[in-house]
Parts: sequence; structure tokens; C-alpha cells
Amino acid sequence: MQNLNLIDGRWCPALHGGQLAVTDPATDEVLTHVPNGGADDARAAIAAAAAALPAWRDRTAAERARPLRRLAELMLERADALATLMTREQGKPLAEARGEIAYAASFIEWAAEEAKRIYGETVPASHPDKRILVLRQPVGVTACITPWNFPAAMITRKLGPALAAGCTMVVKPAAQTPLSALALGELAIEAGIPAGVVNIVTGDARAIGGAIFDAPVVRKVSFTGSTEVGQQLMVQAAQHVTRLSLELGGHAPFLVFDDADLDAAVRGAMATKFRNSGQTCICANRFFVQAGVHDAFVARLSAAVADLRLGHGLDDDVTVGPLIDDAAMAKVADHVDDARRKGARLVIGGAAATPRPGLTARFFQPTILDGFTDQMKVCHEETFGPVAPVRRFTTEDEAIALANASPFGLAAYFYTRDASRLMRVAERLEYGIVGANDGAPSTAQAPFGGVKASGFGREGGRYVMHEYLDIKYVSWGLG
Ligand code: NAP
Repeated sequence: MQNLNLIDGRWCPALHGGQLAVTDPATDEVLTHVPNGGADDARAAIAAAAAALPAWRDRTAAERARPLRRLAELMLERADALATLMTREQGKPLAEARGEIAYAASFIEWAAEEAKRIYGETVPASHPDKRILVLRQPVGVTACITPWNFPAAMITRKLGPALAAGCTMVVKPAAQTPLSALALGELAIEAGIPAGVVNIVTGDARAIGGAIFDAPVVRKVSFTGSTEVGQQLMVQAAQHVTRLSLELGGHAPFLVFDDADLDAAVRGAMATKFRNSGQTCICANRFFVQAGVHDAFVARLSAAVADLRLGHGLDDDVTVGPLIDDAAMAKVADHVDDARRKGARLVIGGAAATPRPGLTARFFQPTILDGFTDQMKVCHEETFGPVAPVRRFTTEDEAIALANASPFGLAAYFYTRDASRLMRVAERLEYGIVGANDGAPSTAQAPFGGVKASGFGREGGRYVMHEYLDIKYVSWGLG
């Protein structure tokens, strides 16, 4: 288990000493300690990334693609070990962790392929003796700051395109899940990615983030995390006008119309709501169900929820793991209590649980609340837990208004079998990602990202390459 920082191809402890414990959220077992790095560690990593930039940038696209493809292959070859490590530090069931490793590798593979398709343009000039060229060039040294809920995929969907474009990168993983990041660093070296092209610094988020934004050489930062921290980073980015991508919080609505295929809607709801114990940014947070199918939907969803099995992610047949920490448990319990106090009906779940002896009290029963209202916290705040609040609606216009009544705009879902409604509703939802009869829209080929307080920038698809490329216009006078 790698537990040191990666700077300029070398594994190093924190420059000024200090360590952070990494624990299993299901058991509180201390897995290892990682460096409690700070501003000086980040500066060393930035210097390494700057030194490595010219040679990496000047490689041909094929030369950059080759080690990236190898990295994706290595991730798949070592998927079992990587997934086990992820489950231990993050808690998600092993099958989900395996799925995340495959998903994470797909971003590296996709980026390796896209490296060869970074096209420029020629534009007809308005003077016979001029030519207009548009070049796309790597932005330079980049950095990413990533969350704990997808410890591998949130890194690779930034790292892959950055490296494919010819940039170098400093990675700051979440304090709770640094081991998956460091394991990726080991594989990057094994894959032949040169020293300094990828650097990983664990430790004090404020100090590391501060050093990143203080350095004019860092030309782009990609952040995935909470809207609150994203807002702070926007302020810091103003200092050197650092380019930003922000993948922030969400509060996804999930609409079920009377004409929906209810079995498909329940499958979609289960996939989006209870994966990762409800700790995903595109989790459905508000279920709006049309009056004609409301009762049937709640009954079928409740039956599916009753089949979920709480437990340690490495135990057989477990489908829902622990929440990440005590603060997460307190927030979920508070949302459920608040909703019940204000009149929501508890359909199933609703309390903390300890699935077996030896496990922490960090497990929350998958929960359905019926009849939530605007006054409840579940209606406005990201719960980040396995809680599905449901509410009845009557008309399509009402459903769209309810769905759009949020400062967030990341993902939205709806189920209908009416093709006209499908297009109409998809167009009117103010969200960056819309799952139309689909509860699992994320994939490497498609642009992932939000609008409104959910941030800006896109990851995935050909769109992500633009995040790591500058446009240069060359006006060529022929003399
Ligand atoms: P978070 O508290 O914002 O942390 C995310 C990352 O930012 C971590 O690496 C954290 O480091 C770091 N960080 C915290 N404060 C910082 C600061 N002042 N300066 C620089 N870095 C700082 O978010 P989280 O609780 O880990 O993740 C959950 C949130 O992420 C949810 O809101 C979720 O919706 C969002 N998310 C969004 C997407 C998306 O694509 N839109 C995907 C996944 C998650 P430490 O861990 O060391 O504190």
C-alpha cells in the first residue's frame, strides 16, 4: 500500500514531517498514515510539474497516448486490488468499487484516444495576402482537487485529458481517500509516464490549495467537491486569473409521469439514489411522482429498498456500505428528523443501524419519506445519504417548476413513454445532465457537468479536451 507523496517521480514524506491517519469508515481500523503535506510540498510538486512540462508537451500525440493507454490497461489488470483498497478507505461495496475502477480507467483510455484528435482550424481571411490559423495548445501546468466519494474516477477524468492535451498535473486527493490516488500514481510510473508529469500531494487542503493558486505557473485548476469550497476557490483563482473547472454539488430531481414504465423507473431510482450509500453528486434528492402512479411507485420502490443489504463493503452480498464519517451520519439523521417533524410519512428505514458486531455506527438504513414539502431541509440541501423523499404532482408544468426550483443544476431524471413529452421535458429542465428514462447517465464519452450553482466546465467526451487547451490565433501575412 503506497503511503507517500509522489513528487518528481520520487516517493516522499511531508517536507516538514507530520502524518494523517487513513481509516476504514466501516470499522475505524487505521489502514496506514499518509504525509500531512502543506504549502512547501505543493510548491515542490508544482516545480516538478513545471520542469517536466516542455518535454511532455513536445511529445507527439501518439507518444503521449501510449503510456496513458498502458495506465488504463494496468488499472484493469489490477482492478481487484485497487477496488479492495478503495472499499477499505471509502466504504463502498466491492462490486461498486470494481465498477468505479473500470469507469476510472475508461477516462484514461478515452483521453489517450482523444490526444490524436486535437485539431486546429484554418479560417478564410478577408485579405488575399493573409491566412488565419487557429492552434490548440496545452494550457501548461495544471492541478486538480478531488473529493472522497469517487476516489479514483474523479482523478482520472481530470488527469487523463490533462496529460493527453500535453499538460502536467499536481493532484490533491481528499484526505479521507488518498490511497486510491497514490495507487494510481504507482501505476502511472509503471506505465511509463515520466517523472514530474503526475505529482500527488496529500495533506492540509487549505495550505496546498493556497500554494496552487499563489503560483502563477499553474494555469488551470479542476475541482470536484462542494459548492461552498468551489466558491472559495473562485475567489482565490482571481489572483492570477487561473482557469477553473468546477464540478460542484447537486440536488437532482427525479420525475415519474403517469405514462412511465414503473419497473424501469424503480430500477433507475435505485441506481441513482442508493449507489455509494447516496453519496454521489448526481444522486436523486427529490422524487416527484404524478398522482396516477404515486402510490404504486412508492410501494414498488419500498419493496426494492427492503432488499438492500447494509454492511461492510467487503462482506458478501452487501449493497449499501457505511457513510464516510460521523458528520455525514449527523446530517442524514437531521434531514430525516426534520422531514418527519414537519409532516413527512416514513415509508421505510429512517434510522442508524449497526449491521453486525465489529462495525461502526456509521450505517444509515435506506429510507423513503413520502409527502415532503418546501419547508423541509431535504427539499433544499444535498442530503448525501440513502434517503429518498417523495412528493406527488399533478401536471407536467407543475413538475418542471418543482424540478427547476433549485439553485443547483447538475443532474435531473425523468421517466415517460411519451416521445413528445420526453423531448419537451428534457429541453425545459435547467440541468447539465438529463437522464431521460435512464438512472445512470455517466460515461466517459459524454459531457458531464452542471449549470447554476453546480459549477461550470465539462468532463468526459471530446468537450473535456477543451478544458486543458488554449486557443491561439495566428494571423499570417504572406508579404
Ligand atoms: P469538499 O469538502 O468540497 O472537498 C473536496 C476537496 O476539496 C477535498 O480534496 C478537500 O480536501 C478539498 N478542500 C476542502 N477545503 C479546501 C480549501 N479551502 N482549499 C482547497 N481545497 C479544499 O467536498 P467533499 O465533501 O469531499 O465532497 C462532496 C461534495 O462533492 C458534494 O457536494 C458533491 O455533490 C460534490 N461532488 C460533485 C461532483 C461533480 O462532478 N459535480 C462529483 C463528486 C462530488 P480535504 O479532503 O483534505 O478536506
